[in-house]
Amino acid sequence: MPKLSAYRKKRRFAKTPEPRGKVRKRGGPPHFVVQKHDASRLHYDFRLEIDGVLKSWAVPKGPSLNPEDRRLAVRTEDHPLEYGGFEGVIPRGEYGGGTVLVWDRGTFEPLGGNPAAAVERGHLKFRLEGGKLRGLFALSRMGEGNRNWLLVKLRDAQARKRGDLTKSRPESVKSGHTPAQVARSRNRWHSRPKSRRPGHA
Ligand code: MN
Repeated sequence: MPKLSAYRKKRRFAKTPEPRGKVRKRGGPPHFVVQKHDASRLHYDFRLEIDGVLKSWAVPKGPSLNPEDRRLAVRTEDHPLEYGGFEGVIPRGEYGGGTVLVWDRGTFEPLGGNPAAAVERGHLKFRLEGGKLRGLFALSRMGEGNRNWLLVKLRDAQARKRGDLTKSRPESVKSGHTPAQVARSRNRWHSRPKSRRPGHA
């Protein structure tokens, strides 16, 4: 059973609006989410619901629909399922401080057996049904260690040789907001009642 101790250890929930969450098995097709995270370095957090958590990779350049693009995907700590709905601003000075936007989400279908075992083996194939990302993709571990993986689009009818979705579709699929609009929500969060302010939670 996966644990969220690494996720929780990195965060101070009195100071960040991110959910504490818990490991939670759900029925129905598993979800995926891609969150654009404008932290000290911009990246896209690619997350797949497996075994009651969101298995996570940070993709600096974001996903591509072009099978010729091999996108570095750095494995990060498992996140709670609740995180998939999170959009907002992590305060400066906190872990991952910056704006988080739900760039894409939907369901995914693991191909070739148990997805948790596939992640352990270091190679996972799956089909995405999202608002922006569709079709077959693969995540493959590179070399030793568990850190560096590649995210690639596989050839199918949804593959595209041209265009860059991160540029043509920058908006949130949750709110329709641009990163700048999400960043402005910071002020709303800070103007909530005292009990929600850092140090008073
Ligand atoms: Mn991130």
